[in-house]
Amino acid sequence: MLDATMKQQLKSYLENLKSQVDLTVSVDDSDASQNIYKLAQDIASLNPLVSVSESNNSSQRIPSMKVSSVNDTNINFAGLPMGHEFTSLVLALLHSGGHPMKVEDDTKQQIAALAGPLNFEIYISLSCQNCPEVVQALNMMAAINPNITTTMIDGALFQEEVTQRNIMAVPSVYLNGELFAQGRISLKEILKKLDSGSAQKESQALNEKPAFDVLVVGGGPAGASAAIYAARKGIRTGIVADRFGGQVLDTMAIENFISVKATQGPKLVASLEEHVREYEVDIMDGQLAQNIMSSDQGADGYISLQLDNGATLKSRSVLLATGARWREMNVPGEQEYRNKGVAYCPHCDGPLFKGKPVAVIGGGNSGIEAAIDLAGIVESVTVLEFADTLRADQVLIDKANSLNNIHIITMAQTTKVIGDGERVTALEYKDRNSGDTKQITLAGIFVQIGLVPNTEWLKGSGVELSGRGEIEVGVKGETSMAGVFAAGDVTTVPFKQIIIAMGEGAKASLGAFDYLIRTPVKA
Ligand SMILES: Cc1cc2nc3c(=O)[nH]c(=O)nc-3n(C[C@H](O)[C@H](O)[C@H](O)COP(=O)(O)OP(=O)(O)OC[C@H]3O[C@@H](n4cnc5c(N)ncnc54)[C@H](O)[C@@H]3O)c2cc1C
Repeated sequence: MLDATMKQQLKSYLENLKSQVDLTVSVDDSDASQNIYKLAQDIASLNPLVSVSESNNSSQRIPSMKVSSVNDTNINFAGLPMGHEFTSLVLALLHSGGHPMKVEDDTKQQIAALAGPLNFEIYISLSCQNCPEVVQALNMMAAINPNITTTMIDGALFQEEVTQRNIMAVPSVYLNGELFAQGRISLKEILKKLDSGSAQKESQALNEKPAFDVLVVGGGPAGASAAIYAARKGIRTGIVADRFGGQVLDTMAIENFISVKATQGPKLVASLEEHVREYEVDIMDGQLAQNIMSSDQGADGYISLQLDNGATLKSRSVLLATGARWREMNVPGEQEYRNKGVAYCPHCDGPLFKGKPVAVIGGGNSGIEAAIDLAGIVESVTVLEFADTLRADQVLIDKANSLNNIHIITMAQTTKVIGDGERVTALEYKDRNSGDTKQITLAGIFVQIGLVPNTEWLKGSGVELSGRGEIEVGVKGETSMAGVFAAGDVTTVPFKQIIIAMGEGAKASLGAFDYLIRTPVKA
């Protein structure tokens, strides 16, 4: 099952095991079962602390593999945890076998105190990049607290369950049989949902933090780069981020990050985080900024940043790097059928539409890339483009034209998402040539019409925005508010790219440092 290189790598990881780990497989004679059985045997052959047995428990999904330990860990994989989920399996083995996990002590205590039973079922697709983070967070919880059971379920293999539960977006997390979360959710957010008192405790702890010299808002490439540049000056630096990594987490292949020929988004984010953690940067992940007040209005002459949990952070300078997010169609039915057929991430949700007809809205690079990607999985892809020509690079258009299950319609304005109350069944659009309204019967709609800057929370704050909602910046990244700088996709700087965001983050950080050394320290 595992090739020689993977075995060699896994063997060295498994040397970190401190206690016995048991793999219990539930299999029949299907190919998928035999692959799981072989995988379990391969793993056990690499370290004497790992054993394999066969289960005769009829309530277990087939095929599946349970990872258990001396601490009563109960982590299950229904389906083959390869692709993006292989790391989840490796971490489950290590954490079950006593290898320390990268979780702060107070978070561990919070997890250990959770009362059970908490039975999590996580529906994933093996090509989903957002899924492993959720699987790994829940598996860590299961490795800490024996009241917690987790099961990763490959939606492509357990299609009947997926249909029964009407799952059309991954990851979808069920807790004790009820829908708990859909989409990426961090360990902190999971704990907030399970333990209502935790948000209040967290807000108190944030309020008590001393003022920062540079407070970066946003943990994408621009924010990470800005924080590193600031911390290297030896000044007190913090990052507040809703989701550390930003858009890069949703990116499959990156081939234009100069000096790295090819990489994947989550891999680049892991390196970014490792680099930031090399320095004394206070990373406050899972926190949403809601308002900013200038040093004239804010507490004690500092710039104040208010968070959605009620906490207020203070800083001598603030660097805004809140990036951008997918643009929505804003048509009737879009919100009602979000995650019920309306999707924004083809890599994540594409496999759930296997063999079905879908549409891609938008004929730019991301739309045509999505269509090409989906064409290999789904029955057919109809691309709807508002303009009279596609805006994608010619090389992508040529590729799309060469695939016989991609149909392109230009001059098409999407007007409505139609469904049966449970799921999307069709899409309505206006033919802009004839003015006629037309319908396409389909199961999924992938929206790829660009990005909007994350600046709604800044409206009326005094930070000047352009007509498109982007933050207006000067040559050093300075904004219209004294001591507030900005960088990356959220600004008016053209060309939204990782390397540009990083460069701009570094520049704005140096701009902030320049401002600080010329501004007297508050008494
Ligand atoms: C699918 C996809 C593929 C791409 N492929 C490539 C590629 O191959 N090469 C390339 O160079 N670029 C690519 N890009 C573009 C690239 O990802 C962006 O240009 C880059 O991530 C911008 O970085 P940023 O730090 O400005 O913003 P983002 O990456 O958007 O990060 C914004 C950060 O701010 C946080 N945030 C937002 N609002 C708040 C708030 N109110 N409070 C606290 N935190 C907040 C977010 O959680 C996040 O941490 C791609 C983008 C997408 C979506």
